[in-house]
Amino acid sequence: MIRLSKSVVSQAEIAAVAAILERGFLGMGGEVQRFEDELSSYLGGRHVVCVNTGTSALHLALQAIGVGVGHEVLVPTLTYVASFQAIAATGAIPVACDVREIDGLLDLNDAESRVTKKTRAIMPVHYASFVGDLDAVYAFAKKFGLRVIEDAAHAFGCTHGVQRIGNFGDVVCFSFDGIKNITSGEGGAVVSADPEVIARVQDARLLGVARDSEKRYRGERSWDFDVSAKGWRYHMSDIMAAIGRVQLRRFESEFKPRRRELFALYCQGLKDVAGLVLLKSDAESVVPHIFPVRILDGRRDAIRQGLEDVGIQTGIHYKPNHLLDYFGGGKSSLPVAEKLYEELLTLPIHPGVSEEECNFVVEKIIKLLKEK
Ligand SMILES: *Cc1c(COP(=O)(O)O)cnc(C)c1O
Repeated sequence: MIRLSKSVVSQAEIAAVAAILERGFLGMGGEVQRFEDELSSYLGGRHVVCVNTGTSALHLALQAIGVGVGHEVLVPTLTYVASFQAIAATGAIPVACDVREIDGLLDLNDAESRVTKKTRAIMPVHYASFVGDLDAVYAFAKKFGLRVIEDAAHAFGCTHGVQRIGNFGDVVCFSFDGIKNITSGEGGAVVSADPEVIARVQDARLLGVARDSEKRYRGERSWDFDVSAKGWRYHMSDIMAAIGRVQLRRFESEFKPRRRELFALYCQGLKDVAGLVLLKSDAESVVPHIFPVRILDGRRDAIRQGLEDVGIQTGIHYKPNHLLDYFGGGKSSLPVAEKLYEELLTLPIHPGVSEEECNFVVEKIIKLLKEK
């Protein structure tokens, strides 16, 4: 069986977790601070706040920029439901926007038609690790006076021009869940140059207890404290940070080149195949978290079954959120996303896929597409 995605951990992560367990303090302490510092230097010096999931990172980032009841946030419908639930968690309304057929990214023309007086922020999603024209997103935000929360769950280690994602922009959120580009078991991070956003996220991840983070880093607790904003139990534990630190050390030398090799093999093998269209991407800047392709002529489900029959697991990223009951149940139509939803098929990509396995997937797809 060739798995679609997989956590890739070694003895090094196991040893790091064992060291935390042996020390006997499992909560949030110095290990989280060290992970944050290392992430910060990897991302070029911006402040980093680690939390328990990528969804929490998005939720706290939105809360920190003041998004709440009565507000609207523009978000592409082709994303994991995490983006939508994070917006809904603040009391604001996620406004589903259509995407571009060529790359599955937010369609700014469609987004523009949905701007209202209540719009406070825009949440671009770096779908399949491609950021597209992020400068245009920032120009759009400037034009309409919006904050930008980047859902960079797919884009850890990716670049835009010469800069890493998270090294510029407004507020950037990463996910370190089990199958993302790096993992801390579960986990996420908020990255920003805005000290107010960072201070609010730091407090809000620990129930709003003012400046509790600094005390925990020193192994102390807060007894006489104040709370001045809504808070949650969203902090990261030292166990998670221990896994994340090892993964970060392995990323540039192991995970990134491996994912890029597989990406290149797929692109090369599938570039001129009738009935299949690759999404626009960029080999130089992506570290692909997923590898979705489009299967045309209504054949996606048959191809998916054919691959499963030979032990190749595939996925569908994603069911558009505006079709979900809680987010409109398809009352409005976003035609491009709906069309892509019928065509998208995600092929296995993770550091555990070998070159032979990747070639096998390519061969099987080509063979299945030729059979009519
Ligand atoms: C994984 C993911 C998230 C949320 O991350 P979790 O850590 O799983 O909460 C958000 N958005 C997208 C697009 C994702 O793929």
